[in-house]
Amino acid sequence: MTRKILTLMLLVLTASGIMSAQQPTDYPGNYAHAPRFKALLYYSDTAEPDHVIFADQAYDFFWRLTWGEGYILDKTTSLHDYPYERLKDYDVIICINTAPVEEAERKAFEQYMENGGGWVGFHAAGYNDASTKWPWYNKFLGAGTFLCNSWPPQPALLEVNTKNHPVTKNLPDEFVAPRCEWYMWNEPANSRKNVQVLLSLSQKNFPIGIKDVVSFGDFPIVWTNRDYRMIYLNIGHGNDEFTDATQNLLFVNALRWVVSKSPKGDPFLIR
Ligand code: ZN
Repeated sequence: MTRKILTLMLLVLTASGIMSAQQPTDYPGNYAHAPRFKALLYYSDTAEPDHVIFADQAYDFFWRLTWGEGYILDKTTSLHDYPYERLKDYDVIICINTAPVEEAERKAFEQYMENGGGWVGFHAAGYNDASTKWPWYNKFLGAGTFLCNSWPPQPALLEVNTKNHPVTKNLPDEFVAPRCEWYMWNEPANSRKNVQVLLSLSQKNFPIGIKDVVSFGDFPIVWTNRDYRMIYLNIGHGNDEFTDATQNLLFVNALRWVVSKSPKGDPFLIR
């Protein structure tokens, strides 16, 4: 055996000895010993079929994130039995494809959000028009009413507008998002000063659509209203929404960020 090989063997043995001598406390993992937070997933199972398909897949996606009892995920198709006293137990409400309907539900939701509640809203959860008659919701959403959409659902290039943000910091500057129906708004979110737009549909997509074509205009897709602990993602139509790793990462980032800002404290921090 040459001296070179002997030296190499000694080095390997020393290195493995160092590895095994490490104490568990040296490892930077932060393991939960109990669920870190509670989420309520609210959805409609009687909405437009493509929005119901998205709801089914969204539940599966968020349920998988609970593995190992990371958090508690409840789901409901009605907020009728969720007065404020019950809602406030949740760190975040995930609105998949609908928004509170009845007057009492709306009041409870307003109280929840005005008192530090957390919200992640997708696509149809933000839809509202002249028949909605809920001015508070527009203030909260940080946008006006539905203006138009592209059709049929198709992939689109999204671009990150705010890079220095926990939701976007590990995303590429732009990526092709899966097939979706892209909503455009009256008074888009980027026209309001309390709103921070995180991602938009790139102008490079124009004209987008085949039946319904959108050719120009501001097209924010993901934003947050700084007056609330909320994020809205205008994504959530059909059965392709969870097929893209980058977009899935965006979804996890959004949930994690809203929860991390809980007034009860950031449940992800080492205590
Ligand atoms: Zn849709």
